Amino acid sequence: MQAYDGMYIDGQWRPAAGADTIPVVDPADEQIIATVPAGTAQDVDAAVRAARAAFPGWAATPPAERAGYLRALRDAMAARKEEIAETVTAELGAPIGFSRLVHAAAPILVAGSYADLAASYPFEEKAGNSTVLLEPVGVVGAITPWNYPLHQIVAKVAPALAAGCTIVVKPAEHTPLTARLFAELVHEAGLPAGVFNLVTGLGPVAGQALAEHEGVDLVSFTGSTAVGRRIGATAGGAVKRVALELGGKSANVILPSADLARAVRVGVANVMSNSGQTCSAWTRMLVHTDQYDEAVELAATAARKYVAGDPREETSRLGPVVSAGQRDRVRGYLEQGVAQGAKVVTGGPEAPLATGYYVAPTVFAEVTPEMTIAQEEIFGPVLALLRYEDEEDALRIANGTVYGLAGAVWAGDEAEAVAFARRMDTGQVDINGGRFNPLAPFGGYKQSGVGRELGVHGLTEYLQTKSLQF
Ligand code: NAD
Repeated sequence: MQAYDGMYIDGQWRPAAGADTIPVVDPADEQIIATVPAGTAQDVDAAVRAARAAFPGWAATPPAERAGYLRALRDAMAARKEEIAETVTAELGAPIGFSRLVHAAAPILVAGSYADLAASYPFEEKAGNSTVLLEPVGVVGAITPWNYPLHQIVAKVAPALAAGCTIVVKPAEHTPLTARLFAELVHEAGLPAGVFNLVTGLGPVAGQALAEHEGVDLVSFTGSTAVGRRIGATAGGAVKRVALELGGKSANVILPSADLARAVRVGVANVMSNSGQTCSAWTRMLVHTDQYDEAVELAATAARKYVAGDPREETSRLGPVVSAGQRDRVRGYLEQGVAQGAKVVTGGPEAPLATGYYVAPTVFAEVTPEMTIAQEEIFGPVLALLRYEDEEDALRIANGTVYGLAGAVWAGDEAEAVAFARRMDTGQVDINGGRFNPLAPFGGYKQSGVGRELGVHGLTEYLQTKSLQF
């Protein structure tokens, strides 16, 4: 077990103000693998002061130079890609292959995209007799979750730095080791002191202190709706900018003309990857009533291939969920699904392995739109199949939750799928299995959030405008 100390503040590892620590648990064997300091309001204050002091210099650094630093950061991440993957697997439990392919690779792509954007974005516009300057908002407070520990950090840090903002990150309690590794890489990349700062700690202590700090100009939060709501209220009270990326309950709509087998297979993979701990996962599969029984069979067969196992084994396809609390929460939903009359086709509340926080890959059939498992975010390897009678019915079900983060539409004809996608109340839709695009804006309609991450839209979240009239 490794006992880490220090917070990355003002370009160096500094001792924490208090003596409390947070244990980091390997969810595959339930052993404590490390401890990190539990930061307090005092540590947050030191980090915000460092970010404040670094802001004027960083904001004045030419964008082309900022791009150079981001490129160096991307290269530092690429050089230690394997270590990133191993760290995510150790503290999150994601299968090592998925950690390499997604947890390590996606943030490298995103950092690279912001190096390019910093170099090419104009930061100045003309509007009639005005010149509009796009200036950095200031000091950013970023609060991130554990489900994509590096991606969620990079999706905030890279655009903030590209825009000329400085930042303090408070990562999730369950996954601070990936965040510490990222801070090391920032240091290696030679970023000026104070531009990036890291404070580990508990949400209601360090997270809250960061969200409430008057030296923070913009709070960017990803996590649960309950906490997001509070952070939004705090930011509103202080009249400061806020970006919220909250939950989802996305619909995978399979229209009758689609390739059913492919749509179901990809849909199941989308839900089971990362043990279902993906906010944009398509956890509701909507199938026409005539094809429903066939889809249920196909989904059960596909889900049974996700055999739970040690995430360090190359062959494991399903790791544990992140914590005992998360496992119990998911099991609670499985029990509710059964109690409300849904049918377990495969999986269920029984644990597939005796040790580790594992949940069996589960497919529910005969799910109706008003059931809890069709309305609330479960955040586990659980798929609900719903039947629809016609397209209007499918649309009503797809749009019938408080969320609107992502979704998918499958049809024989792309234009047919696009016509349906246009009517969906959601921020992203994959058409016939479209690929991840690091430049596509990501964020929610309705209660899935406020603001966008990634690409140009992610950059402009960190900019404010000043108009000069001539
Ligand atoms: P959470 O919202 O409690 O935690 C997210 C981050 O917020 C963490 O860094 C946490 O320390 C911090 N935080 C917690 N309380 C805070 C407070 N009062 N003030 C400031 N910061 C605070 O989420 P969780 O408990 O880790 O997960 C609970 C549920 O949230 C999950 O089951 C899932 O449904 C959802 N979730 C969604 C996402 C997403 O990407 N949208 C990510 C993780 C979790």
